[in-house]
Amino acid sequence: MPSLEVLAPSSPAPAAIPDLTAPSNSVAASASALSPDPAVFLTSDKLLLPDVPEHARESVRAFLSPFVSSIPLKNGDCWNIAQRMMLAANSPRVGYVEGVWSRPEHDAEHQRGECDCEEYQKIQGAPHAWNTVDGFLVDLVVEFKFIGWTQEDEYWSPDDWWHEPLKAYSFDDFEKYEFTRAWYKKYVKKNAPKRVRRELLKSLKEGFSITPMICFLGWGDGFGMTFTEEDQLAMANDEDYVFKPANDRFVTRLNAWLQQQAVPEGTVKRLGNGTEAAA
Ligand SMILES: [Zn+2]
Repeated sequence: MPSLEVLAPSSPAPAAIPDLTAPSNSVAASASALSPDPAVFLTSDKLLLPDVPEHARESVRAFLSPFVSSIPLKNGDCWNIAQRMMLAANSPRVGYVEGVWSRPEHDAEHQRGECDCEEYQKIQGAPHAWNTVDGFLVDLVVEFKFIGWTQEDEYWSPDDWWHEPLKAYSFDDFEKYEFTRAWYKKYVKKNAPKRVRRELLKSLKEGFSITPMICFLGWGDGFGMTFTEEDQLAMANDEDYVFKPANDRFVTRLNAWLQQQAVPEGTVKRLGNGTEAAA
């Protein structure tokens, strides 16, 4: 059980409370434009687990089997989905990760002039949350695309998604965070401006990214992260700010891959999953 000393804000939180609700990302925006947002429930036999090595898939499926079908999966709800998974699993075998993600093939389509969707602006990852089981990446948001988003089945592949972690939270970390929610609720009720209070309380119930909140409240130390006061202030203006280090890594990796994509035909190019293919 964490002590309150560890979790008490190390410095006063900025006066302006940012909107920590749904991620502002192009992936979610384009997704919601395509789909009327149905909740989907998956059973473990439906899970493709593209990032779990084949030898471990049955063991991961068996672990998820008792509870995965109780987690409602919806577009633009990644924080909530990954956090519900932690609560439902209630096991040190799971982890909770926040970072950025994108579908690199979409960037390649824009580079080749094959897509001109308005949501797409530049090469970047979008803030996202996912889980690990036994250390292997498990993303229920990727999984349900192949059940719920039939429009995209034709050309989206489950391993077409890249994830770049910002912070991996162990099960212990997550329990500590859950403990802070009660404190935060009181804090919001007492300190948040009226106009955002209701939304913050609603988002607390529905789930949102926890790293911006940890930064904002000055709780980095309790979770092995260092945030300066400048970080806190920048966070208040832009809740995606804390994801920048992950996004920088992601953009570097993506640009290298896109350059490989552009090599002349007949040479060998490296695919995102580490394999090579003839161009
Ligand atoms: Zn596009």
